[in-house]
Amino acid sequence: MNVMDIFETMEYGPAPESATPALQWIKEHQPFGLFINNQWVVPASGQYLESINPANGKPLAQVAAANSADVDAAVAAARAAFESWGKAPGHVRARYMYAIARHIQKHSRLLAVLESLDNGKTIRETRDLDIPLVARHFYYHAGWAQLMSSELPGYEPVGVVGQIIPWNFPLLMLAWKIAPALAMGNTVVLKPARYTSLTALKFAEIVQEVGLPAGVVNILTGEASQVGETLVRHPDVNKIAFTGSTDVGRSIRRATAGSGKKLSLELGGKSPFVVFDDADLDSVVEGVVDAIWFNQGQVCCAGSRLLVQEDVADSLISKLRVRMEKLRLGDPLDKAVDMGAIVSPGQLKEIQRLVAQGVEEGADMWQPSWACPTEGYFFPPTLFTNVSPATTIAQVEIFGPVLVSMTFRTPAEAVALANNTRYGLAASVWSENINLALDVAPKIKAGSVWINCTNMFDASSGFGGYRESGFGREGGKEGLYEYVRPAWEAHERSKQASSTNGAATPGDKALHGTQPVLSGDDDEQANGHNVWRVGDENGVMAALPPIDRTPKMFIKGKQVRPDSGYSRDVVDPQQRVIGQVGEGNRKDVRNAVEAAHAASGWAAGTAHNRAQILYYIAENLEVRENEFARRIVQQTGRPLADAHEEVQAAIARLFSYAAWADKYEGVVHRPPLRGVVLAMNEAIGVIGMACPDEYPLLGFISLVAPAIAMGNTVIVIPSQQAPLSATDCYQVFETSDLPDGVVNIVTGERDALCQVLADHEDVDAMWYFGSADGSKQVELASAGNMKRTWVNYGHARNWLDSQQGEGEEFLRESTQVKNIWVPYGE
Ligand code: NAD
Ligand code: MN
Repeated sequence: MNVMDIFETMEYGPAPESATPALQWIKEHQPFGLFINNQWVVPASGQYLESINPANGKPLAQVAAANSADVDAAVAAARAAFESWGKAPGHVRARYMYAIARHIQKHSRLLAVLESLDNGKTIRETRDLDIPLVARHFYYHAGWAQLMSSELPGYEPVGVVGQIIPWNFPLLMLAWKIAPALAMGNTVVLKPARYTSLTALKFAEIVQEVGLPAGVVNILTGEASQVGETLVRHPDVNKIAFTGSTDVGRSIRRATAGSGKKLSLELGGKSPFVVFDDADLDSVVEGVVDAIWFNQGQVCCAGSRLLVQEDVADSLISKLRVRMEKLRLGDPLDKAVDMGAIVSPGQLKEIQRLVAQGVEEGADMWQPSWACPTEGYFFPPTLFTNVSPATTIAQVEIFGPVLVSMTFRTPAEAVALANNTRYGLAASVWSENINLALDVAPKIKAGSVWINCTNMFDASSGFGGYRESGFGREGGKEGLYEYVRPAWEAHERSKQASSTNGAATPGDKALHGTQPVLSGDDDEQANGHNVWRVGDENGVMAALPPIDRTPKMFIKGKQVRPDSGYSRDVVDPQQRVIGQVGEGNRKDVRNAVEAAHAASGWAAGTAHNRAQILYYIAENLEVRENEFARRIVQQTGRPLADAHEEVQAAIARLFSYAAWADKYEGVVHRPPLRGVVLAMNEAIGVIGMACPDEYPLLGFISLVAPAIAMGNTVIVIPSQQAPLSATDCYQVFETSDLPDGVVNIVTGERDALCQVLADHEDVDAMWYFGSADGSKQVELASAGNMKRTWVNYGHARNWLDSQQGEGEEFLRESTQVKNIWVPYGE
């Protein structure tokens, strides 16, 4: 072939990257051991698994098959290492992490080739995307290690972290897991995916090279049933971080329920790629290529649903077919190849099955005319048109190079179609009209929204899902909180564990104690307040006439009778009946959830307005301070002065969240691109909450105020023991301009009502402050729609304490971060 011939055909010549150094490295190391305590150890089982090269189906390496004995050894090593690593100054950790980043760059070529060989993804992607992002992740988090003490004061590492990752971005997912964990002072046991362990093992070598203290990073290869499940259930693991399928995520949620293990889940998706008729269609075509044919479509946030405005659909589809015809698929190590191999025969079969089902369901399938290589596991780029939104291929994550397209007419229809999924990981929005794009972005329920771009990632910008795409974020400052806990928590819990009477708070003491009741103070009288004088058991208290008032439930801004028609007694500490509340049931909860949903406009209003209403609630509570204080005394038998303190604390807390309402705003990231990323704190949606028994008023206000300040609507189950302070509040709400349905109150048996809430598909998060067993039940039931949970595992907190009872922890639990990527420039 001469130059003229090449000009004739304009064909690419082969541009292979050499596999030799990587194959040589494999040969020198195999069979690979497990990496425990900075040593390579032989697996207890003595067994090995084969890793294959999906581009030719041939064996590539033998990796160790760990079992539960190896998991025990690795966790023990991590635990021992945590003793010193967890206490090391941030600067020390930053130095090690900086060294890791440098070494990743030094070995970048080898890592890129290994990743291509083992996974089947193209060298273009591993070289230009995966590995540079891995290095960036360690640099970025070295910075957080350095800044931890100043930027996250009052937080501690969680301890030993079990991390489980998938095969689609093997080293990148490792980096997303290990970098923040180490930065925050944790130690880790990581399990790579069965098919793709090699870059993790090369990473282990880097760990040795930089001299990271032994046991800080441990890597166990093997089967999910032997390593993954054991790690999830291990009693000495403090947190599980998982990326993978929604089904496995759900089983991990169930397995860890009630254990107190922290959990973050990054799961599947079916992300919309929305094209408006004023978009630049040539850019859109390139965007689609990156959205669904990047990494053979094996991307959790792949833009797998193309939603096109009707009037440009035909023109876009034909441009797309022309482009698909030109995609080059083949040897992943060829630098001029666009698409590589599917990771495994099993994954290939699954793609084939779903595509066949799409055809059966009546959609039109289109593939380019060229043929795939016959050796190895390849699947061509595939486009479905004429797809109806309810069919399998429109709903199920295919996790392959398969795009389904649908059309819409109006922006509202686009949003509805985009949100017509149980997932919520990412979305792309294409329009040359910035007003339209920025209007639509917040309306799509997804953790990342890319405007006129797609599949953009950076360590500075958190990544993670809404809904069944999981909870927790990786990257950004928000990602750090997945690897820390408030320092007071550990100390408070060890105090509680060692104290014999278990009374941790004044509230507790009063509730469990035998002597009741106290007297009003002289100041009150001096101030002319009309205060009941309350004596001891034989005194005035006994003489108080019971107030006969049966508070109703509060749903959709109305006082409603319980569906059951039954009431339950509320008793004082002497078991005397002091009132009744409605016995709520399933139906009441469902009505309340419906009302909370209908009130979702609350989030769309201004933060200023929410602040005003919170101030107003505080003002109206203050007017009725005496009444609320007496109610607390009546229910708990605590001293009146104490009760006044609680009411005042509740008022102060309302002020705090009124203050925060327009100040918990998010940040603007500047990742390495021309553009900005707007990290916005969004409301979660509908939150179900069970209030603590201690501090009947303050506990209630401490939960409701931050949630509604951030724009959520809530269904509240007040303290079962002392519900009257909460039900009294509805009169305050009614006079404070709080829109109907923002706060709904259902009284009754706390744990039974919580079960209904946690099972409910339309509740987005559950907060629970009650018993250890109730906490477990809430976590278990919440696995259904993967709702976010915040439970106390039966540990009381001191609600009067401003660190334990209010602040950023509450705001974080009330929000989720959406990252909106806005590139600019011509
Ligand atoms: P998978 O859920 O089968 O496996 C993921 C990891 O979990 C593997 O390491 C596997 O060995 C392990 N595992 C499997 N069963 C387990 C169990 N019962 N207990 C503990 N560990 C277990 O998923 P996969 O097929 O490897 O990866 C594809 C899925 O991952 C897709 O659904 C994709 O959407 C998702 N994914 C999500 C993200 C994200 O960030 N949200 C990123 C990549 C992939
Ligand atoms: Mn492999």
